[in-house]
Amino acid sequence: MNSQLALIQNIDALLPQTQCGLCGHRDGCLPYAKAVSEGEEANKCVPGGQPVADALASLLGRAKLNAEESVWPIQSDGRPQRMKAIIREDECIGCTKCISACPVDAIIGSGKLMHSILTDLCTGCELCIPPCPVDCIDLIADHHAVPDETMQIAEQNDLRNRYYSHIQREEKRGLNRKGPVVRANIDTALFAQFSAQNDSVPDIVINQTEAKPTVHLDAKSTIELAKIRTQIKKLEKQLSVREDAKKRLQLDELNQQLNVLQGA
Ligand code: SF4
Ligand code: SF4
Ligand code: SF4
Repeated sequence: MNSQLALIQNIDALLPQTQCGLCGHRDGCLPYAKAVSEGEEANKCVPGGQPVADALASLLGRAKLNAEESVWPIQSDGRPQRMKAIIREDECIGCTKCISACPVDAIIGSGKLMHSILTDLCTGCELCIPPCPVDCIDLIADHHAVPDETMQIAEQNDLRNRYYSHIQREEKRGLNRKGPVVRANIDTALFAQFSAQNDSVPDIVINQTEAKPTVHLDAKSTIELAKIRTQIKKLEKQLSVREDAKKRLQLDELNQQLNVLQGA
């Protein structure tokens, strides 16, 4: 491994592996580690808080900076409160959109069936919330004991492995997927290059076959889609009770907007 990759690996080893993108790097911790190795400020990892910002500053021999603030209160270890997502299962319509949005594969369920979050694996990254068309996912504070350093490292290693497996699976699924992808395309090449030189993570192989064209939505469009679907559902319900020309027109317009956003 060359020295640049070794540095990226050492930086990545200090990051929480929540893969939340709150540092401004949508694809998660590894792209942020790469950017930091190239000079980006090392205080931007929100879930890592001050302890991670300080550890990175020490590793890199840089001045310590105040960590990017979280919306959650600070826990006893100096990091922001750990959170977990829960699905209000009686409201879940089994659409499966949350599954591909979850970077650590913490959601189980299949088409048309109720979905559940494996709370031990959930990092509270919030990435499953915007794609949910019925808004049935809540975030709650995780009041389990704060992990010590050894537990934290073990958890990070596990999350990193799960994320790499997730990326590989999504890469394969991209060949046959129908309909929209709820998370923007991950820069698989960086992960493939890194995994090829690092025995501690699963290998990522990039699809050689040309993928069928799919629609990749950014977070804004995903939220827009969810809003439109909710409005459509409401109107369909109202129209099933009583026909109304104005509402029928609104419904047609919303369906058209939905098709445009989905690239149909
Ligand atoms: S855990 Fe930190 S470094 Fe990783 S994606 Fe989230 S903010 Fe970025
Ligand atoms: S279940 Fe939701 S909040 Fe939890 S890790 Fe997966 S995407 Fe993130
Ligand atoms: S996105 Fe929402 S409705 Fe769809 S399966 Fe997940 S929790 Fe259920």
